Order: sequence, then C-alpha cells, then structure tokens
Amino acid sequence: MSQKVSGVKGMNDLLPGDVEVWQHVERTARDIFSRFGYGEVRTPIVEDTALFVRSVGEETDIVGKEMYTFDDKGGRSLSLRPEGTAPAARAYIEHSVGNQEPLTRWFYMGPMFRYERMKTGRYRQFHQIGAEAYGSKEPAQDVEVMDMVVQLLRQLGLSDVSLNINSLGDDACRPVYQARLVEHLRGHASELCADCQKRLERNPLRVLDCKNERCQQIAGAAPNILESLCEPCRAHFDEVKRKLDALEIKYVVNPRIMRGLDYYTRTTFEFIAAHPVLGTASTVGGGGRYDKLVKSLGGPDVPAVGFGLGLDRLCLLLKESGQHFGRPTDLFIAVADEGSADVAFTLASRLRREGLRVEFDTRGGSLKSQMKRADKVGAIFALVIGEAERQSGQAQLKPMAGGEPMPVRLDELANTLRTRLTPA
Ligand code: ATP
Ligand code: MG
Repeated sequence: MSQKVSGVKGMNDLLPGDVEVWQHVERTARDIFSRFGYGEVRTPIVEDTALFVRSVGEETDIVGKEMYTFDDKGGRSLSLRPEGTAPAARAYIEHSVGNQEPLTRWFYMGPMFRYERMKTGRYRQFHQIGAEAYGSKEPAQDVEVMDMVVQLLRQLGLSDVSLNINSLGDDACRPVYQARLVEHLRGHASELCADCQKRLERNPLRVLDCKNERCQQIAGAAPNILESLCEPCRAHFDEVKRKLDALEIKYVVNPRIMRGLDYYTRTTFEFIAAHPVLGTASTVGGGGRYDKLVKSLGGPDVPAVGFGLGLDRLCLLLKESGQHFGRPTDLFIAVADEGSADVAFTLASRLRREGLRVEFDTRGGSLKSQMKRADKVGAIFALVIGEAERQSGQAQLKPMAGGEPMPVRLDELANTLRTRLTPA
C-alpha cells in the first residue's frame, strides 16, 4: 500500500460548499471597494526578507518568530509574505505610481503565511482582504477606509462587530508617551510575562496588546496614550471622530489598540467581533495610518492609511449566520432508457451554452437513482427523457420542490426555463 501524504499543518483545503462562502465575501468586497474607487493589486507571494524586516519591524512577533523564511537556490533570503501592506508599498514605489496618481487607492486579497500556534481562526496559511490609500494625510482618508470595512460588514450581514479606534501619535509625541509608559511598566517588570520583559526594553508599546492576563491588568493601569497626544495629533484624532459621527458609524475609543506592526502613526483601529465561534481570535481586522513607511522603504514622502481583514475569520462568522450562497442547479435531466442518453446529453450541453445550469448523470443508472441525485444536488427542475419524449419533442418539467409538472417543448426549453426561473 502506498503511504498517505497529508497537507501541511495549519494550511487548510477549502472544498466546494465552503468556497462559495469565500467567493461571496470576495465578490462583495470587490463590489464595495470599487464603489470607493479602489483598484485591485496583485503582488507575488514571496518577497525579499528585508522588505518585512524593514517595514513590519525586527522586534515584532511576525518578523521575530512567525515568518517562513528560506534561501533560494541563488542564496537570496526570501520570505512568504506575512501581510499585505509592505508588498503593496514596495510595488507602489517600484512602479513610481505616486508620480502618475497622487492619490492612489488599492485593494488586495490573497493568502498570507505566519508560523503560529494554531487554533480556531488562527492558521499558518490564512487569507486577508486589505486596502491601502496613498497620498492623503487627511482624517477623511482614515474615515474613508474605515467606512469601506463598515459597508462590507453591513453588506455581509455581520452586525455584531465593533470598531475600536485609537491614536499612536507621531514622532513629536510618541516618545514622550513611551517614556511615561516605560516608567509605569518598570514598576511591574517582574510581573510581566517573559515576552513582555523583552518588549519593555525593545518595544514597550507592544506590552499594551499582550494577551497574557497579568500583562493586561498592568496595561490597564498604564497611562493613556490619548492624554499624551501633541496638538496636531489630537486635532487629527478629533476630526476622525467627528467624521465617523457624521457618517453615523459607531465606534469605541480604545487607547489599548496598538497593532502588532511597527509602521503605524496616528490613527489605528480594529474591528472586533462578539461571536463565540472565533474564541480568542475575535479581531476580524485592523489597520491604521502609516505616514512614514513608504519613505522608509526608499520611496517618496507619501502618507498612507489602510487595513487588513482576516478572510478566514469573516467566513467563519458568515457560516454561523446560516445564510446560503451557492447558486443551485437549474435543471436535472434524467434518462428513462439507454436509447435516450445521447439526446439528453446533447440537450444538457445545448442548454448550458444558453447560460443555464444543467446537470446530467454521465453514469446512467436507474431512473430512481438519477432522481435521487437531482434531489441531492438541489436542482430546481427535473426533466425525464425517454422514448415518448424523443418521439413527441415534448416532456414534463417537474418542479423539485413540489407542485404540478408542466408540459414543455424540448426545442423551447431554454426560454421556458428562463421565464420560470426569473422571479416574478
Ligand atoms: P491577532 O492579534 O489575532 O494575532 P494580528 O494583529 O496579528 O492579529 P494583523 O497582522 O493585524 O493581525 O492582521 C489582520 C487580520 O488578519 C487579523 O485581524 C486577523 O483577522 C487576520 N489574521 C492575522 N493572523 C492570522 C492567522 N494566523 N490566521 C487567521 N487570520 C489571521
Ligand atoms: Mg498575530
């Protein structure tokens, strides 16, 4: 016997049925984002490792422990992308997009890779839908990208998700806050988890979003970053709130939203779901402003703001909602005798050319087993072809949900079906 090969841990197959839920989210996102004028960008799954080290940050969990990094045959260090913002910024710079389009709006969707401990909603290959807007430093731009997520969630019928917002300040005020925070944390240094003891030295803001319970308590008593904002950062944040109010978007001001990446400045936000299906993986997405990133990667001095949503988590929520997304089979064609198989097979092909969804069992088999299959695939109508139907050019169109069969002419079947399938 040959040995079975299994899939890679933390990387999931998606089978038809599930994929329909995913396609529904992707389709809805494309539709909503295009209303806002965002165009899709597709970058490679693999990038130069240095891109993530320089943008996401060496001290972050992502770069420090979660990246899939390897040397290619030419000895270059490459990494599977752990997130989408840095690759998009790289492409934006590489193609001098800012020269042609001073305000650039992009979205992307695709797989990301992080070597993480797995549980529900946390995988090693996961998928993000994200958007980035380059070229506007205005609060309106921050609110526009949040509004896109709000409209997407609304369209998907996911109402139990709350928007949390914060400001991380800028180069003028963040160092002041950081000093105050370090002073507070030093007082509790021995109680922090091992990771946070390191963070305290290298990246103290990160302690604020540690998931360890004791660290959270200590963070809870820490000084509030919003009270340290300089005047321009405060004005920016106030305007973000005012514009959210104007759009009637509900939000919670949460000074603990730090985000796990180094490149954020000013506004940061997270969308947090209340549903228990996600367990501790309750953040469905997050984002913020990153005015320094493009320049730090060798590009022009261009402000930017964006978000990334976890597609896997959105789909888990959507599946819980019990909605159905696949389009059913319009017609199942069954054959009553072997002599009718050719006619039925040809008829099925002809109807598909006319745009209908038609299934035919290529295995043949008894009429009973064919009708069972028609039921199983959820066909709306079924039609049996036997010798009488071939002779007369007429058949009975049977609504699978029940009701009277109706006589149809085979040569008018496409039109009849179309009228019948269009809701009145
Ligand atoms: P978390 O705090 O849950 O680890 P994060 O801050 O690391 O999230 P981001 O880098 O902000 O996540 O990514 C944006 C979104 O992508 C997350 O809110 C989440 O929905 C999704 N995401 C991140 N990592 C994973 C993963 N390993 N598996 C599934 N989804 C993920
Ligand atoms: Mg993470």
